[in-house]
Amino acid sequence: MLNQKRHVDLLTAFPILKRLLRSRSFQPGMMLLTLFVFTLVILTGLFGTPAGSRNFGIIFVWIVWWGLLIIMLVPFMGRFWCSICPIPAPGEWLQRRNIITKRLPKLRTLNKRWPRRFKNMWLQNFGFLAVALFSVIILTRPQVSAWLLLSFIMLGVVLSVFYKNRVFCRYVCPVGGFIGLYSMTSPLEVRVNDPSVCLTHTSKDCVTGNEYGYGCPWMVYPGRLDRNIDCGMCMECLKTCPKNNIALNLRPFGTDLTVQKAHKLDEAYKAFIMLACAMVYSIVLLGPWGELKNAANMQSLPHWLAYATGFLTFVLVLVPGIFGVFSSASWLLMKRSLPLRKVFIDFAYTLVPMGLAAWVAFSLGFVLINGSYALSVLSDPFGWGWNLFGTAEAPWVPAAPQLIAFLQTGVLVAGLLFSVQTGYKIAREQVGRHRKAFTVMLPNSFFLTLVTVVFMWLYLG
Ligand code: SF4
Ligand code: SF4
Repeated sequence: MLNQKRHVDLLTAFPILKRLLRSRSFQPGMMLLTLFVFTLVILTGLFGTPAGSRNFGIIFVWIVWWGLLIIMLVPFMGRFWCSICPIPAPGEWLQRRNIITKRLPKLRTLNKRWPRRFKNMWLQNFGFLAVALFSVIILTRPQVSAWLLLSFIMLGVVLSVFYKNRVFCRYVCPVGGFIGLYSMTSPLEVRVNDPSVCLTHTSKDCVTGNEYGYGCPWMVYPGRLDRNIDCGMCMECLKTCPKNNIALNLRPFGTDLTVQKAHKLDEAYKAFIMLACAMVYSIVLLGPWGELKNAANMQSLPHWLAYATGFLTFVLVLVPGIFGVFSSASWLLMKRSLPLRKVFIDFAYTLVPMGLAAWVAFSLGFVLINGSYALSVLSDPFGWGWNLFGTAEAPWVPAAPQLIAFLQTGVLVAGLLFSVQTGYKIAREQVGRHRKAFTVMLPNSFFLTLVTVVFMWLYLG
Protein backbone atom coordinates (compact mmCIF):
# COMPACT_ATOMS: atom_id res chain seq x y z
CA MET A 1 0.00 0.00 0.00
CA LEU A 2 1.38 3.40 -0.90
CA ASN A 3 2.27 5.75 1.86
CA GLN A 4 0.25 8.74 0.64
CA LYS A 5 1.67 10.94 3.42
CA ARG A 6 4.95 11.00 1.54
CA HIS A 7 3.31 12.04 -1.72
CA VAL A 8 2.91 15.67 -2.83
CA ASP A 9 0.46 16.47 -5.63
CA LEU A 10 2.23 18.92 -7.93
CA LEU A 11 -1.05 19.85 -9.62
CA THR A 12 -2.43 21.18 -6.32
CA ALA A 13 0.86 22.85 -5.41
CA PHE A 14 1.23 24.50 -8.83
CA PRO A 15 -2.17 25.35 -10.40
CA ILE A 16 -0.37 26.81 -13.43
CA LEU A 17 1.12 23.37 -14.14
CA LYS A 18 -2.37 21.88 -13.99
CA ARG A 19 -3.65 24.47 -16.48
CA LEU A 20 -0.73 23.72 -18.79
CA LEU A 21 -1.21 19.94 -18.65
CA ARG A 22 -4.98 20.22 -19.14
CA SER A 23 -4.51 22.30 -22.25
CA ARG A 24 -5.19 20.34 -25.47
CA SER A 25 -2.29 22.03 -27.23
CA PHE A 26 0.63 21.47 -24.82
CA GLN A 27 1.35 17.81 -25.59
CA PRO A 28 0.88 18.01 -29.39
CA GLY A 29 2.95 21.21 -29.37
CA MET A 30 5.83 19.39 -27.69
CA MET A 31 5.40 16.45 -30.09
CA LEU A 32 5.54 18.78 -33.09
CA LEU A 33 8.79 20.18 -31.74
CA THR A 34 10.37 16.75 -31.19
CA LEU A 35 9.02 15.60 -34.59
CA PHE A 36 10.80 18.52 -36.22
CA VAL A 37 14.12 17.47 -34.63
CA PHE A 38 13.39 13.84 -35.48
CA THR A 39 12.77 14.72 -39.14
CA LEU A 40 16.12 16.53 -39.21
CA VAL A 41 17.73 13.46 -37.65
CA ILE A 42 16.35 11.23 -40.41
CA LEU A 43 17.24 13.64 -43.23
CA THR A 44 20.80 14.14 -41.99
CA GLY A 45 21.12 10.39 -41.43
CA LEU A 46 20.00 9.59 -44.98
CA PHE A 47 21.69 12.42 -46.88
CA GLY A 48 24.43 13.74 -44.60
CA THR A 49 28.05 12.76 -44.13
CA PRO A 50 28.72 9.13 -43.19
CA ALA A 51 31.20 10.36 -40.52
CA GLY A 52 29.24 9.85 -37.29
CA SER A 53 30.96 12.64 -35.33
CA ARG A 54 30.04 15.20 -38.04
CA ASN A 55 26.44 14.04 -38.51
CA PHE A 56 23.56 15.71 -36.63
CA GLY A 57 21.53 12.49 -36.61
CA ILE A 58 24.15 10.40 -34.81
CA ILE A 59 25.20 13.11 -32.35
CA PHE A 60 21.70 14.29 -31.47
CA VAL A 61 20.15 10.84 -31.10
CA TRP A 62 22.90 8.78 -29.53
CA ILE A 63 24.59 11.46 -27.42
CA VAL A 64 22.23 14.41 -26.78
CA TRP A 65 18.86 12.60 -26.68
CA TRP A 66 20.23 9.44 -25.13
CA GLY A 67 22.14 11.36 -22.43
CA LEU A 68 19.10 13.51 -21.64
CA LEU A 69 16.82 10.46 -21.54
CA ILE A 70 18.86 8.10 -19.39
CA ILE A 71 20.66 10.57 -17.12
CA MET A 72 17.84 13.07 -16.52
CA LEU A 73 14.37 12.22 -17.81
CA VAL A 74 13.91 8.56 -16.86
CA PRO A 75 15.44 8.74 -13.34
CA PHE A 76 13.59 11.91 -12.38
CA MET A 77 10.50 12.11 -14.59
CA GLY A 78 9.75 8.47 -15.47
CA ARG A 79 7.85 8.12 -18.71
CA PHE A 80 7.66 11.87 -19.43
CA TRP A 81 9.57 11.30 -22.69
CA CYS A 82 6.79 8.93 -23.88
CA SER A 83 4.32 11.82 -23.64
CA ILE A 84 6.31 13.97 -26.09
CA CYS A 85 7.95 11.24 -28.21
CA PRO A 86 7.57 11.90 -31.96
CA ILE A 87 7.58 8.21 -32.99
CA PRO A 88 3.88 7.45 -32.25
CA ALA A 89 2.77 10.97 -33.26
CA PRO A 90 1.89 10.36 -36.95
CA GLY A 91 -0.04 7.17 -36.07
CA GLU A 92 -1.90 8.86 -33.21
CA TRP A 93 -2.78 11.91 -35.30
CA LEU A 94 -3.97 9.66 -38.12
CA GLN A 95 -6.28 7.81 -35.70
CA ARG A 96 -7.62 11.09 -34.35
CA ARG A 97 -7.69 12.82 -37.75
CA ASN A 98 -6.41 15.85 -35.91
CA ILE A 99 -3.37 17.17 -34.08
CA ILE A 100 -4.61 19.76 -31.64
CA THR A 101 -8.03 18.22 -31.30
CA LYS A 102 -11.06 20.32 -30.47
CA ARG A 103 -14.00 18.16 -31.54
CA LEU A 104 -12.58 14.81 -30.43
CA PRO A 105 -14.07 12.50 -33.06
CA LYS A 106 -13.97 8.75 -32.51
CA LEU A 107 -10.67 7.06 -33.24
CA ARG A 108 -10.42 5.84 -36.84
CA THR A 109 -8.88 2.34 -36.93
CA LEU A 110 -9.77 -1.12 -38.17
CA ASN A 111 -10.52 -1.85 -34.52
CA LYS A 112 -8.70 -5.19 -34.39
CA ARG A 113 -8.04 -6.84 -31.04
CA TRP A 114 -4.40 -6.95 -29.91
CA PRO A 115 -3.61 -10.67 -29.30
CA ARG A 116 -3.78 -11.61 -25.65
CA ARG A 117 -0.47 -13.50 -25.77
CA PHE A 118 1.31 -10.27 -26.71
CA LYS A 119 -0.14 -8.22 -23.85
CA ASN A 120 3.20 -8.22 -22.05
CA MET A 121 6.78 -7.10 -22.52
CA TRP A 122 8.16 -10.01 -24.50
CA LEU A 123 7.93 -8.28 -27.89
CA GLN A 124 9.72 -5.28 -26.41
CA ASN A 125 12.36 -7.55 -24.91
CA PHE A 126 13.13 -9.27 -28.19
CA GLY A 127 12.88 -5.99 -30.12
CA PHE A 128 15.45 -4.44 -27.80
CA LEU A 129 17.75 -7.44 -28.16
CA ALA A 130 17.48 -7.26 -31.96
CA VAL A 131 18.49 -3.59 -31.89
CA ALA A 132 21.23 -4.26 -29.31
CA LEU A 133 22.78 -6.98 -31.49
CA PHE A 134 23.39 -4.40 -34.21
CA SER A 135 24.08 -1.50 -31.85
CA VAL A 136 27.68 -0.80 -32.89
CA ILE A 137 26.57 -0.58 -36.52
CA ILE A 138 23.56 1.59 -35.63
CA LEU A 139 25.59 3.93 -33.42
CA THR A 140 28.27 4.59 -36.00
CA ARG A 141 26.43 4.59 -39.34
CA PRO A 142 24.02 7.51 -39.86
CA GLN A 143 22.05 5.82 -42.64
CA VAL A 144 21.40 2.71 -40.55
CA SER A 145 20.26 4.88 -37.62
CA ALA A 146 17.92 6.84 -39.89
CA TRP A 147 16.35 3.71 -41.39
CA LEU A 148 15.86 2.22 -37.94
CA LEU A 149 14.05 5.32 -36.65
CA LEU A 150 12.01 5.56 -39.83
CA SER A 151 10.99 1.92 -39.46
CA PHE A 152 9.81 2.63 -35.88
CA ILE A 153 7.58 5.45 -37.18
CA MET A 154 6.21 3.29 -39.98
CA LEU A 155 5.50 0.41 -37.61
CA GLY A 156 3.72 2.86 -35.28
CA VAL A 157 1.54 4.06 -38.19
CA VAL A 158 0.75 0.52 -39.41
CA LEU A 159 -0.23 -0.62 -35.90
CA SER A 160 -2.40 2.46 -35.38
CA VAL A 161 -4.30 1.60 -38.56
CA PHE A 162 -5.17 -1.86 -37.20
CA TYR A 163 -5.43 -1.26 -33.45
CA LYS A 164 -6.87 1.50 -31.29
CA ASN A 165 -4.70 3.65 -29.06
CA ARG A 166 -0.98 3.32 -28.44
CA VAL A 167 -0.48 -0.41 -28.96
CA PHE A 168 2.95 0.34 -30.44
CA CYS A 169 4.11 2.23 -27.31
CA ARG A 170 2.59 -0.17 -24.80
CA TYR A 171 3.54 -3.54 -26.31
CA VAL A 172 6.07 -3.11 -29.14
CA CYS A 173 8.43 -0.13 -28.83
CA PRO A 174 11.85 -1.43 -27.67
CA VAL A 175 12.69 1.96 -26.15
CA GLY A 176 9.32 2.23 -24.39
CA GLY A 177 9.95 -1.14 -22.73
CA PHE A 178 13.01 -0.08 -20.78
CA ILE A 179 11.69 3.43 -20.12
CA GLY A 180 8.64 1.76 -18.55
CA LEU A 181 10.74 -0.58 -16.44
CA TYR A 182 13.05 2.15 -15.15
CA SER A 183 10.19 4.65 -14.71
CA MET A 184 9.23 2.60 -11.65
CA THR A 185 12.22 4.14 -9.84
CA SER A 186 11.20 7.70 -10.70
CA PRO A 187 9.86 10.11 -8.06
CA LEU A 188 6.99 11.23 -10.34
CA GLU A 189 3.69 9.39 -10.82
CA VAL A 190 0.21 9.90 -12.21
CA ARG A 191 -2.35 8.43 -9.80
CA VAL A 192 -5.88 9.06 -8.59
CA ASN A 193 -6.27 11.10 -5.42
CA ASP A 194 -8.91 8.82 -3.99
CA PRO A 195 -9.56 5.31 -5.41
CA SER A 196 -12.94 5.16 -3.62
CA VAL A 197 -14.19 8.04 -5.81
CA CYS A 198 -13.40 5.91 -8.87
CA LEU A 199 -15.30 2.95 -7.44
CA THR A 200 -18.53 4.92 -7.30
CA HIS A 201 -18.03 6.84 -10.54
CA THR A 202 -19.85 4.64 -13.01
CA SER A 203 -19.26 6.49 -16.29
CA LYS A 204 -15.44 6.09 -16.05
CA ASP A 205 -14.73 9.00 -18.39
CA CYS A 206 -10.98 8.39 -18.07
CA VAL A 207 -11.50 5.06 -19.87
CA THR A 208 -14.26 5.99 -22.32
CA GLY A 209 -13.26 9.59 -23.04
CA ASN A 210 -15.59 12.61 -23.19
CA GLU A 211 -15.78 16.03 -24.81
CA TYR A 212 -12.61 17.12 -23.00
CA GLY A 213 -10.31 14.28 -23.99
CA TYR A 214 -9.76 10.71 -25.15
CA GLY A 215 -10.05 7.54 -23.10
CA CYS A 216 -6.62 6.51 -21.81
CA PRO A 217 -4.47 5.97 -24.95
CA TRP A 218 -2.31 3.50 -22.98
CA MET A 219 -5.37 1.36 -22.16
CA VAL A 220 -4.97 1.84 -18.44
CA TYR A 221 -7.69 2.38 -15.83
CA PRO A 222 -6.25 5.14 -13.61
CA GLY A 223 -8.39 4.05 -10.66
CA ARG A 224 -6.27 0.92 -10.30
CA LEU A 225 -2.93 2.34 -11.36
CA ASP A 226 -0.23 1.41 -8.84
CA ARG A 227 2.91 1.39 -10.99
CA ASN A 228 4.37 3.76 -13.60
CA ILE A 229 5.29 1.02 -16.03
CA ASP A 230 2.11 1.20 -18.15
CA CYS A 231 1.22 4.88 -17.80
CA GLY A 232 2.52 7.09 -20.61
CA MET A 233 1.97 10.31 -18.60
CA CYS A 234 -0.08 11.73 -21.49
CA MET A 235 -2.44 13.47 -19.04
CA GLU A 236 -5.62 12.65 -21.03
CA CYS A 237 -7.18 11.42 -17.77
CA LEU A 238 -6.48 14.81 -16.19
CA LYS A 239 -8.54 16.36 -18.98
CA THR A 240 -11.40 13.85 -18.88
CA CYS A 241 -11.88 13.17 -15.17
CA PRO A 242 -14.99 15.15 -14.10
CA LYS A 243 -14.28 14.42 -10.42
CA ASN A 244 -10.96 16.25 -10.36
CA ASN A 245 -9.43 13.01 -9.06
CA ILE A 246 -6.12 12.89 -10.96
CA ALA A 247 -2.85 13.76 -9.22
CA LEU A 248 0.71 14.18 -10.45
CA ASN A 249 2.57 13.10 -7.35
CA LEU A 250 6.11 13.64 -6.18
CA ARG A 251 6.98 10.55 -4.16
CA PRO A 252 9.99 8.63 -2.79
CA PHE A 253 12.23 7.02 -5.44
CA GLY A 254 11.44 3.40 -6.34
CA THR A 255 7.98 3.25 -4.78
CA ASP A 256 6.64 0.90 -7.48
CA LEU A 257 9.34 -1.76 -7.19
CA THR A 258 7.83 -3.42 -4.17
CA VAL A 259 4.30 -3.80 -5.57
CA GLN A 260 4.79 -7.57 -5.56
CA LYS A 261 1.39 -8.66 -6.81
CA ALA A 262 2.32 -7.07 -10.15
CA HIS A 263 5.72 -8.76 -10.55
CA LYS A 264 5.97 -10.70 -13.81
CA LEU A 265 8.51 -12.86 -15.65
CA ASP A 266 8.54 -10.68 -18.80
CA GLU A 267 9.45 -7.64 -16.68
CA ALA A 268 12.03 -9.64 -14.71
CA TYR A 269 13.65 -10.61 -18.01
CA LYS A 270 13.59 -7.00 -19.12
CA ALA A 271 15.64 -6.22 -15.97
CA PHE A 272 18.14 -9.00 -16.82
CA ILE A 273 18.40 -7.91 -20.46
CA MET A 274 18.99 -4.27 -19.57
CA LEU A 275 21.60 -5.00 -16.90
CA ALA A 276 23.46 -7.51 -19.08
CA CYS A 277 23.34 -5.19 -22.12
CA ALA A 278 24.81 -2.33 -20.05
CA MET A 279 27.68 -4.68 -19.21
CA VAL A 280 28.17 -5.85 -22.81
CA TYR A 281 28.06 -2.26 -24.15
CA SER A 282 30.62 -1.17 -21.56
CA ILE A 283 32.91 -4.03 -22.59
CA VAL A 284 32.47 -3.63 -26.34
CA LEU A 285 32.25 0.15 -26.72
CA LEU A 286 34.46 1.42 -23.87
CA GLY A 287 36.80 -1.53 -23.30
CA PRO A 288 40.26 -2.00 -24.81
CA TRP A 289 39.30 -5.11 -26.81
CA GLY A 290 39.37 -3.88 -30.41
CA GLU A 291 38.73 -7.34 -31.88
CA LEU A 292 35.47 -7.59 -29.99
CA LYS A 293 34.39 -4.20 -31.31
CA ASN A 294 35.32 -5.26 -34.84
CA ALA A 295 33.25 -8.45 -34.46
CA ALA A 296 30.25 -6.43 -33.15
CA ASN A 297 30.76 -4.02 -36.06
CA MET A 298 30.26 -6.96 -38.47
CA GLN A 299 33.66 -6.77 -40.10
CA SER A 300 33.14 -10.39 -41.05
CA LEU A 301 29.96 -12.43 -40.82
CA PRO A 302 31.45 -15.46 -38.99
CA HIS A 303 32.96 -13.17 -36.32
CA TRP A 304 29.67 -11.33 -35.91
CA LEU A 305 27.76 -14.62 -35.62
CA ALA A 306 30.15 -15.75 -32.89
CA TYR A 307 29.67 -12.37 -31.13
CA ALA A 308 25.86 -12.61 -31.49
CA THR A 309 25.82 -16.14 -30.05
CA GLY A 310 28.00 -15.10 -27.11
CA PHE A 311 25.91 -11.96 -26.57
CA LEU A 312 22.56 -13.80 -26.50
CA THR A 313 23.92 -16.59 -24.29
CA PHE A 314 25.30 -14.06 -21.81
CA VAL A 315 22.12 -11.94 -21.73
CA LEU A 316 19.43 -14.61 -21.82
CA VAL A 317 21.08 -17.57 -20.09
CA LEU A 318 24.22 -16.73 -18.14
CA VAL A 319 23.09 -13.64 -16.20
CA PRO A 320 19.60 -15.00 -15.33
CA GLY A 321 21.22 -18.39 -14.55
CA ILE A 322 23.75 -16.96 -12.09
CA PHE A 323 21.02 -14.79 -10.57
CA GLY A 324 18.88 -17.94 -10.26
CA VAL A 325 21.59 -19.62 -8.15
CA PHE A 326 21.55 -16.70 -5.69
CA SER A 327 17.72 -16.64 -5.68
CA SER A 328 17.72 -20.37 -4.91
CA ALA A 329 19.94 -19.65 -1.90
CA SER A 330 17.39 -17.06 -0.68
CA TRP A 331 14.63 -19.61 -1.27
CA LEU A 332 16.44 -22.21 0.84
CA LEU A 333 17.06 -19.62 3.57
CA MET A 334 13.32 -18.90 3.75
CA LYS A 335 12.78 -22.67 4.08
CA ARG A 336 10.95 -22.86 0.74
CA SER A 337 7.97 -21.03 2.19
CA LEU A 338 7.22 -19.46 -1.22
CA PRO A 339 7.49 -20.90 -4.76
CA LEU A 340 11.04 -20.58 -6.16
CA ARG A 341 9.65 -18.90 -9.31
CA LYS A 342 8.11 -16.14 -7.17
CA VAL A 343 11.34 -15.58 -5.24
CA PHE A 344 13.30 -15.43 -8.52
CA ILE A 345 10.90 -12.94 -10.14
CA ASP A 346 10.47 -10.75 -7.04
CA PHE A 347 14.20 -10.38 -6.47
CA ALA A 348 14.79 -9.59 -10.16
CA TYR A 349 13.21 -6.18 -9.43
CA THR A 350 16.27 -5.34 -7.30
CA LEU A 351 18.13 -5.18 -10.62
CA VAL A 352 16.05 -2.21 -11.75
CA PRO A 353 17.86 0.53 -9.75
CA MET A 354 21.18 -1.25 -10.32
CA GLY A 355 20.56 -1.49 -14.09
CA LEU A 356 19.53 2.14 -14.32
CA ALA A 357 22.65 3.18 -12.38
CA ALA A 358 24.81 1.07 -14.73
CA TRP A 359 23.28 2.75 -17.78
CA VAL A 360 23.72 6.21 -16.24
CA ALA A 361 27.39 5.44 -15.42
CA PHE A 362 28.00 4.03 -18.91
CA SER A 363 26.31 7.03 -20.55
CA LEU A 364 28.25 9.56 -18.44
CA GLY A 365 31.41 8.03 -19.88
CA PHE A 366 30.65 8.90 -23.49
CA VAL A 367 28.17 11.79 -23.15
CA LEU A 368 30.67 13.94 -21.23
CA ILE A 369 33.52 12.95 -23.52
CA ASN A 370 31.66 13.45 -26.81
CA GLY A 371 28.96 16.01 -25.92
CA SER A 372 30.89 18.92 -27.46
CA TYR A 373 30.32 17.50 -30.95
CA ALA A 374 26.75 18.81 -30.58
CA LEU A 375 27.95 22.40 -31.11
CA SER A 376 29.59 21.75 -34.45
CA VAL A 377 26.77 19.60 -35.89
CA LEU A 378 24.21 22.27 -34.92
CA SER A 379 25.87 24.62 -37.38
CA ASP A 380 26.63 21.97 -39.98
CA PRO A 381 24.00 19.22 -39.53
CA PHE A 382 24.67 17.39 -42.81
CA GLY A 383 28.46 17.78 -42.64
CA TRP A 384 28.32 19.71 -45.95
CA GLY A 385 30.50 22.60 -44.79
CA TRP A 386 27.67 24.91 -43.58
CA ASN A 387 28.15 27.26 -40.64
CA LEU A 388 24.60 28.27 -39.64
CA PHE A 389 25.31 29.56 -36.12
CA GLY A 390 29.06 30.14 -36.36
CA THR A 391 29.92 27.03 -34.30
CA ALA A 392 30.84 24.62 -37.10
CA GLU A 393 34.51 24.75 -36.16
CA ALA A 394 33.89 24.38 -32.40
CA PRO A 395 36.65 22.07 -31.17
CA TRP A 396 36.07 18.70 -29.53
CA VAL A 397 36.47 19.34 -25.80
CA PRO A 398 35.75 16.49 -23.36
CA ALA A 399 33.76 17.83 -20.37
CA ALA A 400 35.35 17.26 -16.96
CA PRO A 401 37.25 14.08 -17.96
CA GLN A 402 38.98 13.97 -14.55
CA LEU A 403 35.57 13.83 -12.81
CA ILE A 404 33.98 11.06 -14.86
CA ALA A 405 35.37 8.16 -12.82
CA PHE A 406 34.17 9.79 -9.55
CA LEU A 407 30.72 10.40 -10.99
CA GLN A 408 30.50 6.81 -12.25
CA THR A 409 31.59 5.44 -8.89
CA GLY A 410 29.05 7.61 -7.06
CA VAL A 411 26.23 6.54 -9.38
CA LEU A 412 27.11 2.84 -9.12
CA VAL A 413 27.32 2.95 -5.31
CA ALA A 414 24.00 4.82 -5.13
CA GLY A 415 22.49 2.17 -7.43
CA LEU A 416 23.84 -0.62 -5.23
CA LEU A 417 22.43 0.92 -2.04
CA PHE A 418 19.08 1.57 -3.71
CA SER A 419 18.97 -2.03 -4.97
CA VAL A 420 19.91 -3.52 -1.60
CA GLN A 421 17.22 -1.41 0.09
CA THR A 422 14.70 -2.63 -2.52
CA GLY A 423 15.83 -6.22 -1.84
CA TYR A 424 15.25 -5.75 1.88
CA LYS A 425 11.73 -4.37 1.31
CA ILE A 426 10.91 -7.28 -1.01
CA ALA A 427 12.26 -9.83 1.48
CA ARG A 428 10.34 -8.13 4.31
CA GLU A 429 7.09 -8.47 2.39
CA GLN A 430 7.94 -12.10 1.63
CA VAL A 431 8.88 -13.28 5.11
CA GLY A 432 7.61 -10.59 7.49
CA ARG A 433 10.19 -10.33 10.28
CA HIS A 434 13.21 -8.03 10.07
CA ARG A 435 15.86 -10.61 11.07
CA LYS A 436 14.61 -13.22 8.66
CA ALA A 437 14.23 -10.70 5.85
CA PHE A 438 17.82 -9.61 6.45
CA THR A 439 19.06 -13.20 6.14
CA VAL A 440 16.95 -13.94 3.07
CA MET A 441 18.18 -10.87 1.19
CA LEU A 442 21.89 -11.65 1.80
CA PRO A 443 22.49 -13.81 -1.33
CA ASN A 444 20.77 -11.18 -3.47
CA SER A 445 22.89 -8.41 -1.91
CA PHE A 446 25.99 -10.46 -2.63
CA PHE A 447 25.00 -10.76 -6.30
CA LEU A 448 24.35 -7.01 -6.49
CA THR A 449 27.75 -6.25 -4.93
CA LEU A 450 29.44 -8.60 -7.37
CA VAL A 451 27.80 -6.85 -10.32
CA THR A 452 28.82 -3.43 -8.96
CA VAL A 453 32.43 -4.57 -8.61
CA VAL A 454 32.44 -5.80 -12.22
CA PHE A 455 31.09 -2.45 -13.46
CA MET A 456 33.64 -0.54 -11.37
CA TRP A 457 36.41 -2.70 -12.77
CA LEU A 458 35.16 -1.96 -16.29
CA TYR A 459 34.96 1.82 -15.75
CA LEU A 460 37.86 2.42 -13.41
CA GLY A 461 40.13 -0.56 -13.99
S1 SF4 B 1 -13.02 9.54 -14.46
FE1 SF4 B 1 -11.89 10.15 -12.61
S2 SF4 B 1 -13.14 9.52 -10.88
FE2 SF4 B 1 -13.93 8.48 -12.71
S3 SF4 B 1 -12.92 6.48 -12.68
FE3 SF4 B 1 -11.67 7.83 -13.93
S4 SF4 B 1 -10.16 8.73 -12.55
FE4 SF4 B 1 -11.75 7.82 -11.28
S1 SF4 C 1 -3.38 6.83 -16.90
FE1 SF4 C 1 -3.73 8.95 -17.55
S2 SF4 C 1 -1.68 9.81 -17.84
FE2 SF4 C 1 -1.46 7.59 -17.75
S3 SF4 C 1 -1.49 6.96 -19.88
FE3 SF4 C 1 -3.60 6.81 -19.12
S4 SF4 C 1 -4.56 8.76 -19.61
FE4 SF4 C 1 -2.35 9.02 -19.85
